[in-house]
Amino acid sequence: MRVVLRGEVGEGRAVTKKAWKRVGGEAQLSMLGAASSIIDKNMMPTCPVCQGPLRFYYHEFKQTPRRSGTVWIWCGACGAWEHASRVELPKDRTYADPWATLNLDAFDRLERNQFLDQLERKWESGELPRQFTCA
Ligand SMILES: [Zn+2]
Repeated sequence: MRVVLRGEVGEGRAVTKKAWKRVGGEAQLSMLGAASSIIDKNMMPTCPVCQGPLRFYYHEFKQTPRRSGTVWIWCGACGAWEHASRVELPKDRTYADPWATLNLDAFDRLERNQFLDQLERKWESGELPRQFTCA
């Protein structure tokens, strides 16, 4: 289905809007496993639903007393996605989050505004890191 997204009309381009679907059951466990894999080994498995390319985004909410963040994992092909919260990144890992400086309210608004579409666009444009950096 081709639709012109609101807010993009000015850009004069139509995009194919993905039908995002949060996975359940076995696929959910695989998606969460993929989150662990990218964090622990900087390796991303393929989508458990369609074997397509998985993508991810990490956002850290606070660093003290312990680092605590959240990870979104999604498939660039079929639109399956999952989200993991209270993720603790190893001390030697950094992630160049383009939204790192947003305060909680601003991030909350962002997250409620077709967040997966925004993530996908930022991934496609190369603005999201493809890996964590090891110190
Ligand atoms: Zn998929």
